[in-house]
Amino acid sequence: MWRLNTRGNYEFLGGKEDWDAAARVAEQCSYYADDDEDEMTAEEPVSCYNCLYRRWTTNSFICQKVKQGDGRLSKKC
Ligand code: SF4
Repeated sequence: MWRLNTRGNYEFLGGKEDWDAAARVAEQCSYYADDDEDEMTAEEPVSCYNCLYRRWTTNSFICQKVKQGDGRLSKKC
């Protein structure tokens, strides 16, 4: 589900249109927070694509909250 980049950030492997997976991850994530309304792209109310901590990359997004060594990602996501 995630790729660890050289900066220690996790990049989502589902790209920008894996709506189901992005919603599943966010539903299990204790860090989820709504982004500004005009930045929310998914129809699902809770989705990584709508999260304040999502930063778009060329092919997907990185999560700014969950960092390398944080055990929550493997347990929750
Ligand atoms: S904090 Fe990261 S993993 Fe959690 S919902 Fe937001 S983008 Fe997804």
